[in-house]
Amino acid sequence: MTDVSETDLNFIRRAIDLAVAAVEEGNRPFASVLVAADGAVLAEDCDRTNLSGDPMSHSEVNVIRTGIQKHGIDRLAGATIYVSGEPCSMCAGTILRNGIARVLYGAPGEVTGPYLAGKRLGQRYPSAGIFALAGDKLKVTSGVLLEDARRPLELYVAKGSP
Ligand SMILES: [Zn+2]
Repeated sequence: MTDVSETDLNFIRRAIDLAVAAVEEGNRPFASVLVAADGAVLAEDCDRTNLSGDPMSHSEVNVIRTGIQKHGIDRLAGATIYVSGEPCSMCAGTILRNGIARVLYGAPGEVTGPYLAGKRLGQRYPSAGIFALAGDKLKVTSGVLLEDARRPLELYVAKGSP
């Protein structure tokens, strides 16, 4: 875990707290915070697939959409996205397409997988192959505050949400 600042840790903590709140509301255990290169928070949101019925409303897509709608796509240049768990392939592609420079996430897919077993989820493809397409333009850090990042997942299992 290199190049992770105290500011980064605070935004990961925020994403994890939002993911816990998401589970409490009946949503899935993921959330994201999108932060501009100058440190301004552009958007934060949770996964809304359960309650919205929109299978594409993952937290990463939600914050990127909102961030662009509210602030313009230029504000995403050099931005960082913080996610409570590893982005899926759809979100990895969305991150790649919109100028984001850094991705930091808590729980990697190997950790989230068992918590999600038996849930109503589609085929999962790892994000690493998609992130690799960006080469040096994207820096990805996995496993940030991993133990904290288990909290929303554990709550999700305990709650028995779909
Ligand atoms: Zn996703």
